[in-house]
Amino acid sequence: MSTFEQDTDTLKAWDKAHVWHHMTTGQTADAGLTMFVRGEGLWLWDIDGQEYLDATAGGVWVTNVGYGRREIADAVHQQLLDLNYFAGSMASKPASAFAEKLLGKMPGMSRVYYSSSGSEANEKAFKMVRQIAHKHHGGRKHKILYRERDYHGTTLAALSASGQMERREHYGPFLPGFVEFPHCCEYRSQFGDVEDYGARAAQALEDVILREGPNTVGAVIVEPITAGGGIIPPPAGYLQAVRDICDRYDVLLILDEVVCGMGRTGAWFGYQHYGITPDIVTMAKGVASGYAAISCTVTTERVYELLKEDAGDTLGYFRDISTFGGCLASQAAALANVAIIEREGLVENSARQGERLTEGFRTLAERYPMIGDVRGKGLFQGIELVTDRASRQPVDESVPMAIVARCKAHGLLIGRTNRCVPGFNNVLNFSPALTATDQEIDTIVERLDRALHDVTPTL
Ligand code: PMP
Repeated sequence: MSTFEQDTDTLKAWDKAHVWHHMTTGQTADAGLTMFVRGEGLWLWDIDGQEYLDATAGGVWVTNVGYGRREIADAVHQQLLDLNYFAGSMASKPASAFAEKLLGKMPGMSRVYYSSSGSEANEKAFKMVRQIAHKHHGGRKHKILYRERDYHGTTLAALSASGQMERREHYGPFLPGFVEFPHCCEYRSQFGDVEDYGARAAQALEDVILREGPNTVGAVIVEPITAGGGIIPPPAGYLQAVRDICDRYDVLLILDEVVCGMGRTGAWFGYQHYGITPDIVTMAKGVASGYAAISCTVTTERVYELLKEDAGDTLGYFRDISTFGGCLASQAAALANVAIIEREGLVENSARQGERLTEGFRTLAERYPMIGDVRGKGLFQGIELVTDRASRQPVDESVPMAIVARCKAHGLLIGRTNRCVPGFNNVLNFSPALTATDQEIDTIVERLDRALHDVTPTL
């Protein structure tokens, strides 16, 4: 039974007239956007009854357990009836139970701070760094270093910490104290074709710390695997070297797991592939798979201790609040979401199906020379498109746009990168729900094949 009484044309007309869609103004929206109305697993149906296989997990890497999960809906329903809300300054059953469950997946981490979006989770991390600087370093150690191509959110501090041109352009001036360092994409080998590429790329971070002055640098933030900036897994040894550099200069390491978290990469968290322990981890999208808004800033006990209120020091505590970090149904949804991931072995499935997807893409690469690089981990894969493999010249952005459109015409939703670095809007993104079966993975590859075939004659 639909909640809406209006007919399809009325709803479409209202949408066109009144809704300001994310990432659009004008043209795209004027053309009329697809209105999805129902989902089941990886499959979506629009208001006209058209069926799609969604290889984007809700457009932006969110629906890790897939659509249509009654178990999560029931948990949310029950929590809303029991108690829908009380501010996060008080204790609650779901906040307590989810924190215990989450920390069980994150050895070395100790405290969970709740909020409601990825940007907000990163803002909290930055405020922790700033307050530690004020409390312990006379305000000096306040700078936050971020990496070119990484994205950390849409609010102004998170955007100040984001290395993506398209997102930043037109929104300056940015906050002081945020400093960029070079990306680590081995395929775009800016540090040369060397065996110890990871160490060289990490050296670029150390150079920036030394240039800025280690006593002014409080933290480094990176995505374990860069998402919107081009699906860039770190080169061998890179994250370990970044961790060592942070330790050497007493700099906190913040890992943005907003996309990578909750099984997406074939481990509970992306950083766990690399044997490091961060100081702060932020997460959002897959935490409740989009069944409710929730994000977390998770810290070690050391970070918590650094911000602890000392006896008689009433200014010592972390003066931060997130109104909707107190939505109890969100934590209940997160708990039910993790229970599904555990019971259905979705972290393992992500790793296994990720390999099948990679194999499928490599087979396509034998027939389509524009496939320059296939990379990723688990069900978090990217294809970098080039005009010719030897020069690695990126294709014009019209090519991935055409491929995304042809995929949609064949009933497959895929993503593509932002214009993070001028001229490099050339990566296709694939991130189906972690429940993907062999058959669904094969269907993704088959439909992509048809789309690549469609655009090839025009190149
Ligand atoms: N970090 C990363 C890595 C992201 O990809 C995003 C969103 N795409 C964010 C942070 C921001 O999350 P939100 O949109 O929930 O604020």
